[in-house]
Parts: sequence; structure tokens; C-alpha cells
Amino acid sequence: MQSDVTIIGGGPVGLATALSLEALGLSVTVLERAPAAALAEAPFDGREIALTHHSVGVLKALGAWPHIPEVAISPLREARVETGRRNHPLTFDTRGRGVEALGYLVSNHLIRRALYAQATQRPGITIKAGTATQYVRNGRGDRTVIHDGGEETSRLVVAADGRFSQIRRMQRIGAIMHDFHRSMLVCRMAHESPHHHVATQWFDEGQTVALLPVNGGASSIVLTLPPDRIEALRLMERDAFNDQIMQRVGNRLGRMRLVSTRHVYPLRGVYAHRFATPGFVLVGDAAVGMHPITAHGFNLGLKGQETLAQEIGAAMEKGEEIGSLSVLRRFERRHRLATAPLFAATNGIATLYTRDERPFRELRRVGLQVADALSPFKRVVTDMLMDRQKTA
Ligand SMILES: Cc1cc2nc3c(=O)[nH]c(=O)nc-3n(C[C@H](O)[C@H](O)[C@H](O)COP(=O)(O)OP(=O)(O)OC[C@H]3O[C@@H](n4cnc5c(N)ncnc54)[C@H](O)[C@@H]3O)c2cc1C
Repeated sequence: MQSDVTIIGGGPVGLATALSLEALGLSVTVLERAPAAALAEAPFDGREIALTHHSVGVLKALGAWPHIPEVAISPLREARVETGRRNHPLTFDTRGRGVEALGYLVSNHLIRRALYAQATQRPGITIKAGTATQYVRNGRGDRTVIHDGGEETSRLVVAADGRFSQIRRMQRIGAIMHDFHRSMLVCRMAHESPHHHVATQWFDEGQTVALLPVNGGASSIVLTLPPDRIEALRLMERDAFNDQIMQRVGNRLGRMRLVSTRHVYPLRGVYAHRFATPGFVLVGDAAVGMHPITAHGFNLGLKGQETLAQEIGAAMEKGEEIGSLSVLRRFERRHRLATAPLFAATNGIATLYTRDERPFRELRRVGLQVADALSPFKRVVTDMLMDRQKTA
């Protein structure tokens, strides 16, 4: 064995998993296709991740949080959901909860850099960057990962290679795939009027817009439209783009100016049929790739790797083999319970809110008004958004 665990994919969940498993005393090798420079100085990719309190706790426990510059952490004080024009919004805030924020927005590339910086300081973690995995060979009691720089044999292989995971497919694990036939354009825009750290999700007719408050007098714009219209916006000349966005957000933030690169993501939800086979396990988006509308993909990815580390830690104490199916199934059961209801609800919301026929518009309008009047419902959703469950 070259190491106890081989992780395929050095994205945010792969690196978090490496840190959690190394903390148990295991030796871990991470194979990442991108070169080291792209991990150390990961470039802006448009994603602003709304972290729950629990996720912040996990990143602190892993030692990654101090690597994130304080000025780059933006508290989320209120969340508003609107539908159509001039309808009653549904709002969530922290009143009576004794905390300053529902959660915290941090750019994805800064989370990636922080996890990488921390992983490179750990003696039990070896990162082989610029190394694409080709396939996994199943042996008796071990697994060999074949990559373009050679091979790694270990007791457990963890696939963290994203929602379109090649490795999942090669291990013959199927997945539910939901194509929303929409794409998302994300970028940062500076604006005249303050955002007061309020996030807005606006289900307008023909488009969905989210405005996420980041520091420096700017917001992240998240626009959902059919793919051809998104591509036209991505390529649009800057001044025309600024005008388009001001119009699309209903001129609510005054004059706006593009201050970042523009990024496009096709919207597809993915849920693997199985998360584990002997000596092999899926984590992060490779297991559950959520529609970003409920801002839970990475939060669930962090939770999943935490659950996996808990089950492996318990197995080590009992002298069980870390790659045995019974151990990995315990993780699978718990992670399914934590993700399946949210995956289904998110797909339902994303579908309901992209239909523009009259009954759907009315349902949305009445739904938000009723939901806003239901304090117990709002309390439950706010609890879920914040997730203040203590880290293990
Ligand atoms: C627009 C947008 C907004 C989002 N907002 C939120 C949010 O607010 N809150 C939230 O919780 N989540 C959010 N998410 C989801 C979040 O970004 C993902 O859940 C998270 O990035 C998943 O991380 P991962 O490590 O599993 O996968 P990835 O980030 O996809 O990383 C996979 C890694 O594997 C590597 N790789 C792939 N194949 C191979 C191979 N064969 N060999 C070696 N390496 C390989 C890739 O290079 C990559 O580095 C958002 C997503 C989008 C698109």
C-alpha cells in the first residue's frame, strides 16, 4: 500500500475529506487533474458560497478558516424571496436568535485556496497535482488507482471528482440526472445603493435573479435563463451588459458596473444510486450534485465528508477495516437521510419557479404570502438555512 486512502479530485470536498481523514491518523494521497498553481492560486470562478454556521465550524475544525482573508467574508443578515412584481416577499432574518448572521458568503476560489493551503501543511497528506485519474482497478482487499503519472494502491478510494464524475461511471454506479434546461450566469457587480447584507432571490417572469451581498459595495449576480440567452449575455459588450443587468434587477441597486469575469454553469442535478462499494466511496458533488438555488451543495458535501470521517473513526476504534462495505454503508445510510429530502425539495422548487404559466405564477404569489405569515414554517426554514448544529 502506498497510502491508506487515495482521493480522486482535489476540489473543496476532496481536500476537506483529506484533512478529516488525516486527522484520524491515516495517510492520504490526493490526485488532482489541475496543476498545483491552479490549486494554490485558484482563480475566481463566479461562485459565492453561502456557508451555514455548521460549515464555518467544520472549516475552523479542519484549520482552513484562518486562511480565508477576513475582508472576504460577508455576513448574510436577511434573505428575501420575491415572485413577480410588487408581490408580498417571504423574508428570513436572525431576529431573536442571538447571532449576527444567517450565514456567511465566501467566494468558492478562496475556500479552495484555504483548504489547499491547510492540506499542504499536513504531514500525512500528499497532493499529486496535474495528475488525471484514468480508472480504478479492484483488487482483493485493496484498490489501485491508475493515473497518468503511475498508480496508487490503498485500502480505500474516495471519488470526489465532481457532479459529472467519470470515476462514478467507470465503477458502474448510475445516477439520477435532472436537466433543468437552464444555465446560470454569475459575476460580481459594483453598485451605487447599499445592499445592507440582504440576499434577494427573485422569481421574475421569464428569469430568476439572485443578488448576493458581498463586501466592497458589490453584489454577486446570479441570473438563470435558457442556455442560448445566457451565452448572449456572457459575450455582450460591457456597457450593454451593465444596462441589461440594471434593467433585469429592476434598477433596485442604482447604477451597476461589472467588476469581475463572467461565468456560466449549466443546471443539472445529480444523485448517485449508491455512494459505496467495497473499498470505494463517493463524496461531494460526485455523490449529490444539487441545483444551487437552495445554496446547499458544498454545505452538504462538507457534512458528508464529516459523516464519513466519523464512521471511519468509529470503525478504527473497533478494529474494523476502513474500506469494508459495512463501514461505508453506515456512511451511505446517514448521508442519504441528510440529502435525499433536500435534493427532492430543491428540484421541486427549481421546477415550480421556472414555469411561467398563470397557475404557477399564482401558486408562487399565494405560496410566498402564506409562508411569510407562518412563523413556525419560517423558524424551521431559518434553522435549516443557518444549520447551527455543533461540529463533532
Ligand atoms: C453557481 C453556483 C453557486 C453555488 N452556490 C453554492 C452555495 O451558495 N452554497 C453551497 O453549499 N454550494 C453552492 N454551490 C455548489 C458547490 O460549488 C459545489 O457543491 C462544490 O464545489 C462541490 O465540490 P466538489 O469538491 O465535490 O466538486 P468540484 O468542485 O467539482 O471539484 C472536483 C475536482 O475534481 C477534479 N477532477 C475531476 N476529474 C478528475 C480526474 N479524473 N482526476 C483527477 N482530478 C479530477 C477537478 O479538477 C476538480 O478540482 C454552487 C454551485 C454553483 C455552480
